[in-house]
Amino acid sequence: MAPILTVEDLSVRYGTIPAVTDLSFRVEEGSLTALLGANGAGKSTTLNTIAGLLRPVGGRVTFAGEDITRTAAFRVSRRGLALVPEGRMVVAPLTVEENLELSSFARGRRRTAVMQDVWDLFPRLHERRNQVAGLMSGGEQQMLAIARALMTKPSMLLLDEPSMGLSPALVDVVFGAIKQIHASGVSILLVEQNAAIALPIAEFAYLIHRGDIISAGSPAELEKDPDMVARHLGLDPAVVAPEFEQLLVDSESTPTERL
Ligand code: ATP
Repeated sequence: MAPILTVEDLSVRYGTIPAVTDLSFRVEEGSLTALLGANGAGKSTTLNTIAGLLRPVGGRVTFAGEDITRTAAFRVSRRGLALVPEGRMVVAPLTVEENLELSSFARGRRRTAVMQDVWDLFPRLHERRNQVAGLMSGGEQQMLAIARALMTKPSMLLLDEPSMGLSPALVDVVFGAIKQIHASGVSILLVEQNAAIALPIAEFAYLIHRGDIISAGSPAELEKDPDMVARHLGLDPAVVAPEFEQLLVDSESTPTERL
């Protein structure tokens, strides 16, 4: 399958401080690819640069066959590449429904139809559609952040740590929705610190350390070296190894079955 997103030799700095250096990877069309790394590895910087929020000092980003390097964020979004940022960034004083309306490019009946798809995916948001977003729980705000991105009818989603700060039960709800979105044909690049959450739903994963890719492979391939993964995610190998053993059992089913 052809890549929908290609990142080549990407370098990003904050002033003189390098955050990402000569980073290259790709996401196949229709796939769910994970980008894993510890705190400060450069994951958010990479996503924000792809989405047009940061300007790289070098390298190239190609989306759906077009060079989008240094393209303004709203144009990237119009082309079908939507970012769900770390920290959710919902508009706190507005209601759930107003947040969704703000994010839509469509108007009238077309917007109503897209919103209906979002309500079907997140019935809990529909129940709370008139509630002010800032007063919702972390899990509900994460659902709203994903729902806002879906209002742009994207062909690809960039998800920045959707599990952050959520209880295991809410992680299940949010990741269940991510699986459904992927099954509907949307390509996904999922950034996570928590490999044990991301690998079971990923088809391919990259490990990023200090702004560079240090390992890549299917979840089963990465799980063969839990020590290496744990070391670079800042985790205790004794904790990671048993989780990976379980993942290996799970990954004996095909990726489609695992979804
Ligand atoms: P986290 O999970 O903690 O968000 P991350 O993998 O997403 O980590 P980035 O936020 O991309 O990592 O940070 C990469 C590097 O860039 C880190 O060394 C970080 O301290 C630095 N950095 C990030 N944002 C800024 C900024 N606004 N100014 C200066 N340095 C920054």
